Amino acid sequence: MRYQRIVANGLVVTPDGTARGNLGIRDGRIAAISPDPLLGDETIDARGRVVLPGAVDLHVHFNEPGRTHWEGWGPGSRAAAAGGVTTVVEMPLNALPPTTTAAAFQAKVTAAQASSIVDFALWGGLITDNLSHLPTLASAGVIGFKAFMCPTGTPEFTHVEDGILYEGLCRIRELGLFLGVHAESHWITQHNTERLQAQGRTDRRAWAEARPPAAELEAIQRALFLAARARCRLHIVHMTLPDGAEMIQESKGAGQAVTVETCAHYLTLTDDDLLRLGPVAKCAPPLRDRPTQEALWQDVLQGRIDCLTSDHSPCPTEDKTRGDEDIWQAWGGITGVQTLVPLMLSQGVHRRGMTLPQFATLLSAAPAKIAGLWPRKGAIHIGADADLLIVDMDREWTVEHRWLQSRHKHSPFLGRSMKGWIDLVLRRGQTLAQNGEIAVDGGGVWLRPNGEKR
Ligand SMILES: [Zn+2]
Repeated sequence: MRYQRIVANGLVVTPDGTARGNLGIRDGRIAAISPDPLLGDETIDARGRVVLPGAVDLHVHFNEPGRTHWEGWGPGSRAAAAGGVTTVVEMPLNALPPTTTAAAFQAKVTAAQASSIVDFALWGGLITDNLSHLPTLASAGVIGFKAFMCPTGTPEFTHVEDGILYEGLCRIRELGLFLGVHAESHWITQHNTERLQAQGRTDRRAWAEARPPAAELEAIQRALFLAARARCRLHIVHMTLPDGAEMIQESKGAGQAVTVETCAHYLTLTDDDLLRLGPVAKCAPPLRDRPTQEALWQDVLQGRIDCLTSDHSPCPTEDKTRGDEDIWQAWGGITGVQTLVPLMLSQGVHRRGMTLPQFATLLSAAPAKIAGLWPRKGAIHIGADADLLIVDMDREWTVEHRWLQSRHKHSPFLGRSMKGWIDLVLRRGQTLAQNGEIAVDGGGVWLRPNGEKR
């Protein structure tokens, strides 16, 4: 058979391990994986390079429609592509309207189809007053629902207390989907925030003090309990704590259907960076201390964390800088979709011995499975979309302003040294980015969850 494109002589990372070989691409899909030479119209020489599946980022906010001036599908998807993320799963909040009705869902699909260069799927939202919309959102094609257990940064996406949370879990289970939760206690974070603000505290440390580990752990425990009672699959987003990983591990051991993600920034920035960098490193939950971070790395390396995400949550730069002297005034969210893969190659694979198959599981296979996009997305195997990264593992480089593709080019990682450069990014066999430059306009497709059970 003759293929349209061949990726030749790379070290190919598959679910089974790594092997030097050749990939044949036909009609946008992987049609051959072979140690022997293949015939094709065009050959990409991957000698001396690692060939990874494109990353699937389960947690991004692109804010369009409605807050396109914060990011948008065009710049957001270009940032994803330049950083090796070929599929994004976009969160229901920060766009206007939020994705809490089927009409809002359709508006977002339309906006994304108009300008996304990466393939995409969408989360739906569970808020205080949209229980009756969950079935239509499910049939419209959400991959799952997201809820907050504490107030969000945007008033139209209301957080839910236990009554709605529990009823939502029961209904979502009937729909055969799952709930992702932002787990921080409303009561603890609100009390601490009011107390610290009453004391006149505006310093950066106050942000972290208002949101201690206890606030996160209490909410994780409550979410686990309610989801178990409702027999609904649960996903804990941006989890920061080894004690949380242990609680989730115990629940898994007891047979509960639960998964957990952590984000690149919790593994590569600490509370010292919040003090040093200020608002650009403000996020919720907040950055934790160095010992917590090192223990969280062990959870990642030993399989107690299912997947790694960016929680890319951008904003206009002035929404960060207005918090320079008063941390409460800054938007909480980190611009990170473009740095996710490079950070994990540098700090995971090179620095801490994460294996390449582990990397591919954490960044591609596991999030694709959680989102119901497997087996089309998430791995290099026959029949999957040819979403591929060709990586020069040894090249060292520095994150520079001009490399960033987001609408607002702030990042807590500016100036950081990286090891592992993405030479080429393919989306369904087509060149999406080459040597950090974007090569296409649009073309990203919407992915419905295939309903395949995990
Ligand atoms: Zn988020």
